[in-house]
Amino acid sequence: MKNDQEIKSLAEKYTFDVYPHTINLTISSGDGVTITDVNGNSYLDFAAGLGVNILGNCHPKLVRNVQDQLKRIIHPSNLYFIPEQILLAEKLCKITRLDKAYFSNSGAEANESLIKFARKWGNAQSHPKQEIICFESGWHGRTTGTISACKDESMQAGFEPLLPGFITVPKFDLAAIKTKLNDNTLGVLVEPVLGHGGVFPAPPGFLKELRAFCDENSILMLVDEIQTGIGRTGSFLFCDHEDVTPDILTLGKALAGGFPIGATLCKDFIAKHMTVGTHGSTFGGNPVSATAALTVLDTIYEDKLIENAAKLGEYLFSELNKLQQLFPDKVTEARHCGLMCALEVSIDNKRLQRLILDQGLICTTVGTKVLRFLPPFVITKLDIDKAVNCIKSALINYL
Ligand SMILES: *Cc1c(COP(=O)(O)O)cnc(C)c1O
Repeated sequence: MKNDQEIKSLAEKYTFDVYPHTINLTISSGDGVTITDVNGNSYLDFAAGLGVNILGNCHPKLVRNVQDQLKRIIHPSNLYFIPEQILLAEKLCKITRLDKAYFSNSGAEANESLIKFARKWGNAQSHPKQEIICFESGWHGRTTGTISACKDESMQAGFEPLLPGFITVPKFDLAAIKTKLNDNTLGVLVEPVLGHGGVFPAPPGFLKELRAFCDENSILMLVDEIQTGIGRTGSFLFCDHEDVTPDILTLGKALAGGFPIGATLCKDFIAKHMTVGTHGSTFGGNPVSATAALTVLDTIYEDKLIENAAKLGEYLFSELNKLQQLFPDKVTEARHCGLMCALEVSIDNKRLQRLILDQGLICTTVGTKVLRFLPPFVITKLDIDKAVNCIKSALINYL
């Protein structure tokens, strides 16, 4: 293995400079809630691979089941029926109350599928519908299609022409949607807790109202739960808090506990338009990722990890609130939805992130003012106490 400096100079020479690398570490291994760099330093991991590693790093059951799968077969492709993929589809449909599941390899791809499925349905209507209403600060991925659905200069600039057929309204603004509704409206796409947008949950009742609005106007309710799904907000889906079922739903990130996967679930009346040859993927629904996802689903229910996420999310939030009270000149607000937590600061969030790292805690930043915490669901109260102490020391050290 090469050393830290050698890896970093090779990275500079041979890889794209698209990642900010404000956490300036070269990672060699992980175990549970800790992650270790090539210099042998270990950190408490409240980034969890961007909200992915909900079972922690290298969970023994995940490792064992995937190893067993690797020995059976790695990649048959969708030329064949893949039992693990089909069992996963059944399980997800039952949990989400949707009818059909399609698998891809990432969140952005799951949303591309969502856009295609929605358009296929829209174009099949007696008066074709093609326009999707989206929200400002929403985030749906980095493909050409998904950046077109995010109104964000930093993601779109220079990549024109963007995909047409999207219009944007202010976040969670139902009145604004009503003004944009027209004969060409196909549906409304929502990220129910803005993740990249700074951890802002949809206001209570919003999804229920949106569901009713979509029903009244015969348009689709499209929900991106790539970050919020699989228990992050304290229930399997954020939609479950409001007892709402979308027409199309996307999942990704935590679904396979660290293996690449995207899932697009929808109702039969939409899926029936996606006939043989209209869509597909080489790797989508491969048995390794599917096995990993089945293991994640079994484990979160067996070990009651969603309940743990809900309970410890409350605890982390209350501790972050105390930091706000202790450091009102540096911390403006704590926010959370389950175990998706944020601390908004009036100081430079990236500098604070580095000071927190010096204390032994990894967290992420979004924008210029927000620290975001997406810890694994297997954390304990003690882990949170350690983490909060790291943040506290860093706030004291920030002069
Ligand atoms: C991360 C994320 C995506 C994109 O997923 P990728 O796997 O990076 O393509 C899309 N939507 C939301 C809400 C996300 O958090």
